Amino acid sequence: MIEKARRWIDDARRVVVLTGAGISTDSGIPDFRGPQGLWTRNPLAEKMSNIHYYLADPEVRKLSWQNRLSSPAWSAKPNAGHLALVSLEKQQKLHALITQNIDELHQIAGNSPDKVIEVHGTMRKFMCWGCGMRGPMQAVLDRVRAGEPDPHCRDCGGILKSDTISFGQQLVPEVIDRAIRMAGEADVFVSVGTSLQVYPIAGAFDVARAAGAKTIIVNAQQTPFDDQADAVFSGSISEVLPAILGSAGR
Ligand SMILES: [Zn+2]
Repeated sequence: MIEKARRWIDDARRVVVLTGAGISTDSGIPDFRGPQGLWTRNPLAEKMSNIHYYLADPEVRKLSWQNRLSSPAWSAKPNAGHLALVSLEKQQKLHALITQNIDELHQIAGNSPDKVIEVHGTMRKFMCWGCGMRGPMQAVLDRVRAGEPDPHCRDCGGILKSDTISFGQQLVPEVIDRAIRMAGEADVFVSVGTSLQVYPIAGAFDVARAAGAKTIIVNAQQTPFDDQADAVFSGSISEVLPAILGSAGR
């Protein structure tokens, strides 16, 4: 099966990849929704990621800032799965890299920022809820370290948060539209480390398949699309992806 999938990639010109939390767990970033996920173990963590609680309650924000300070993502390094996607881009085959992740490990690994479509935003930037200003997250974390438990915007006094899509917050329509459009242009569509249960982005699979793309799913757990996919792999992402996409032997 690996050989077959590898041949599809060899023959492909426009590979579109969709990644979710599963690709970053080998880098030490926990999957929030999985059985060992933070939300399962700490219901307060779910409250912190809900925009309504976040805006309404300073205590939720204080905890959120402490959480951001101690996020494992700050010290995380890209793994072999991320590097396989860099290799795919170097082979001039990567059409788009759609990600549900907010850790920027794809860009840190070496994928071009213009190939990466971040449907849930990025934790490495902050945004102001009042005026919409954005900037590097570390600048705000420095203020937290210096003793401000809930820093506000220096321009407008508004509430600051990470530049990510919280629960209860709208996705950015242009970003989703671009992701779906790219999926429709794929000749191979690879879904990696996502349960494919969250719409609208799970619809990228249908769009790619309807447009005639070969479809590959790499995920530890089953997904609703396994029956429709041309190939399904449940092994370790950091082993399967290099085997399918890697440049070794080319
Ligand atoms: Zn502001």
